[in-house]
Amino acid sequence: MDASSAARAWRDHLQRLQSLRGAQALLAWDQQTGMPPAGAAARAGQQALLGELAHSWAIDPEARKLLDVLEASDEATHQRMALVARREVDRAVKVPSALVRRLSEAHSAAFGAWATAKQDDDFSAFAPHLRTVVDLALEELGHIDPDRHPYDVALEAYDPGTTIATLRPLFGRLKDGLVELLDAIADQEPIAHVPLPADVKAQRALNVEISEALGYDFGAGRLDVAPHPFTIDIARQDVRITTMFDPDDMLVALGGTIHEVGHALYEQGLPTGALEHTGLDRAASMGLHESQSRFWENAIGRSEAFCAWMAPKARAHLGPDAPDARTLFQQSNRVDRSLIRVFADEVTYNLHIIVRFELELALLEGTLAVEDLPEAWNSAYADVLQVDVPDDRRGCLQDVHWSHGSFGYFPSYTLGNLYAASFTKAIEAAHPTLWDDVADGRFAPVLHWLRHHVHQQGRTQDAPDLVRAVCGDRDPVADLLDHLWGRHGAMYGARR
Ligand SMILES: [Zn+2]
Repeated sequence: MDASSAARAWRDHLQRLQSLRGAQALLAWDQQTGMPPAGAAARAGQQALLGELAHSWAIDPEARKLLDVLEASDEATHQRMALVARREVDRAVKVPSALVRRLSEAHSAAFGAWATAKQDDDFSAFAPHLRTVVDLALEELGHIDPDRHPYDVALEAYDPGTTIATLRPLFGRLKDGLVELLDAIADQEPIAHVPLPADVKAQRALNVEISEALGYDFGAGRLDVAPHPFTIDIARQDVRITTMFDPDDMLVALGGTIHEVGHALYEQGLPTGALEHTGLDRAASMGLHESQSRFWENAIGRSEAFCAWMAPKARAHLGPDAPDARTLFQQSNRVDRSLIRVFADEVTYNLHIIVRFELELALLEGTLAVEDLPEAWNSAYADVLQVDVPDDRRGCLQDVHWSHGSFGYFPSYTLGNLYAASFTKAIEAAHPTLWDDVADGRFAPVLHWLRHHVHQQGRTQDAPDLVRAVCGDRDPVADLLDHLWGRHGAMYGARR
């Protein structure tokens, strides 16, 4: 078979697979937004059946033969299609099915045990499950590639092109810089928390108006409520977002909605036409995905210019008690050494991640025993964030990730913040009127830049290469620290 026929056949194969995965996504969306509780058992069966079908299609030996042809082609796109496909197919093929079953059983048992242990603040009830999850993860990663560091193999599932060797220096410099900024802010007058309650129906109307203004296409998406907000793509023209409204704090939904809009704009802007169904028409990595959500949520949504644009809209929807631009800006950016990652501000957030990166790496390397995790966690928080962790519920039990065995996922969040910082600088250079545009509610030039430089590139390159191609040799750590000093440092009157 010649390379173009193989490429056509491979695209047909991926199109079928994407349709099936879209159906699975729709079931998952329904489960989290509107399914009656009694439907859970039947839904689990339906998902398992579709999951098995998708797995068998994904590892289909006939389809895999096409990859040999694409690999030998002299067209760069064909070679890239084969490389991107192999990374995933090889994972699925190399792990023995008995181990896949043990992994899935261990993860569901560990998830249940984690939820109970967190509620009861009882790490010892979760520890044996976590030990099993770590052991099985090492077994799985060893099957995928016994010659590389297991953590590098784990990272590749989320952020191809990123390794321990690239993360260590980035995170090390970032940590030092953040601690310095945090100390400088702590020397200044603190900014008090001001509750910003608002009627939920009015909040919803405000969030819809903002999402539309940013460029989210409601003709190809919708906004619903979910306890853990997420974005899900059912098809290129059907990318749905969810948010959560807190009647006592309008900033919860606002930050959450803009974050998910950022993810959705990426999905809605991925390449069509010649790249459609090649496997290169997808997000380049989790870190790059997170850069899009963080860019809109933080760089744009928490900026002074955005708050100035939004304040009159907030008043129109929420009434005369709505916060003014200054209150919105201050409350969106106040800095607090806190215990919980998901509530952390922009300055401390990455310190929460760096702590997790170091601990999960030590768990996989065997230099940290599972039973010693709480103590290691607490001492890292005392050292890096200077907070005392009162219990494991607000300590090492707070996040769900490790119960799923999702080691290597946490760095995506900080990679996203780093990439977003460099994108912001690059956009400022390309559009000197950026902040005037934002203050006037003109977001199209920003979206256009992202569409062209990031979204339309899909997975044609690994994220680190894409960022380098777009931003040149910008230093993302310097860019992020510069942004934080310029916004948070300045707001507190801290000097570098
Ligand atoms: Zn996100």
